[in-house]
Amino acid sequence: MQLLLMGPPGAGKGTQAAELVKKFNIPHISTGDMFRAAVKEGTELGKKAKAVMDAGGLVPDEITIGIVKERLAKNDCKKGFILDGFPRTVEQADALKKILDGLGMNLTRVLNIHVPSEDLVERATGRRICKNCGATYHIKFNPTNKDGVCDNCGGELYQRKDDNESTMKNRLSNYEQSTKPLIDYYKNANLYTEIDGRQPIEKVTNDLVNVLS
Ligand code: ADP
Ligand code: AMP
Repeated sequence: MQLLLMGPPGAGKGTQAAELVKKFNIPHISTGDMFRAAVKEGTELGKKAKAVMDAGGLVPDEITIGIVKERLAKNDCKKGFILDGFPRTVEQADALKKILDGLGMNLTRVLNIHVPSEDLVERATGRRICKNCGATYHIKFNPTNKDGVCDNCGGELYQRKDDNESTMKNRLSNYEQSTKPLIDYYKNANLYTEIDGRQPIEKVTNDLVNVLS
């Protein structure tokens, strides 16, 4: 199963991808996670991406397409994958089609988690992530049992540098301008399904699984 999870920043893509990984045992490929890992490691890629990410901009297409091409060619993707946060532009979507054609694959479904823009700033600013295992929480909507401590592994939680109100403005405006056109792009390809992302996390997961079964 080759899945693409779409939706604005903070819609719940990473949260749902973690559930789908457990259910379908296929890798979760998040370009945001890949860039954050590169920034942490201080690689050339990380140096190029850091300032853009901190400002809420989009990393240039040629860089982003390159890392996805490399990742999708790995063996673990042969059984399928969940793409999250890529593509974010029409150019990236065209490149994805070419990459998949070259690998003899195609997309099974594009699932768009729809959340109205007025909810997204609160989702992002309240997001907390485990430093150790990467689990995602929310201070109000999905809190940990103990403040600042991961339920999963006991790791320390942190807040993403770009999860603030002013950066979210840029991220949302980039979404509207560059990523939203992909809704029609995938509707035209008969791959598009929209899910109501305002429901509780478990309900969103249920809807996603129902579409896929
Ligand atoms: P994305 O990967 O789309 O940017 P995340 O999965 O990281 O979004 O979710 C953003 C924030 O919203 C997180 O703090 C997460 O815990 C919270 N969240 C995710 N899904 C829901 C939901 N259905 N209802 C309320 N909060 C949610
Ligand atoms: P995310 O984790 O999906 O919220 O992404 C965090 C940041 O990484 C974004 O705000 C962008 O700066 C960058 N990024 C992630 N995916 C892409 C992409 N497909 N194209 C360009 N930039 C990206």
